[in-house]
Amino acid sequence: MSVSAAPTPVSIGEMLDRLGRLARALQFAHGLNPTQWEALRFIARANRYSRSPGALAAFLGATKGTVSQTLITLEERGFITRSPGGKDRRSIRLGLSEKGAAILAQDPTRAIDAAMDDLPTDARAALMAGMDALLASLQRRGDRKVFGVCRGCVHFETDAAMPAACRCGLMLEPLASGEELQLCVTFEAAQA
Ligand code: SF4
Repeated sequence: MSVSAAPTPVSIGEMLDRLGRLARALQFAHGLNPTQWEALRFIARANRYSRSPGALAAFLGATKGTVSQTLITLEERGFITRSPGGKDRRSIRLGLSEKGAAILAQDPTRAIDAAMDDLPTDARAALMAGMDALLASLQRRGDRKVFGVCRGCVHFETDAAMPAACRCGLMLEPLASGEELQLCVTFEAAQA
């Protein structure tokens, strides 16, 4: 005789797994796979210290071999550029080409943003803040590199006399307008 288990509430983990599967399925589009889309998004959002194959591998939690294959495909299709960059002449700087920016404008995950637009504003804000905190917590627990933006970084320096001017205290360089909102591989969360 079979015994039916009492129904249990769906856990957050199950819910996120289901959403993750839906999000992955959406991203087999325009001849690209989910990893390739994620790489394009990263290159578009990363700051000048982070547009490298190594930082991309850390962001994706992927091996350098997997990332290398992803970059070869994206470059062959004309979506990204690779050029020498940084202080080390051997390092590679990744960039998004015009064609890459154009395909990214058709990012299939925008369907999720459109679905989010159906939620009330306060529910959307709470969901974003909660997912952000959950992601950071999971990355710390999994000993994964945490990426973030200057505004929440311990190295971010501003000048009270010149609020528009800001600087990276780690790289000892000024940050251009807008850079403080880009993803950084050397981000270190400031204490709350
Ligand atoms: S302030 Fe922090 S996040 Fe911004 S560039 Fe420097 S290390 Fe990266």
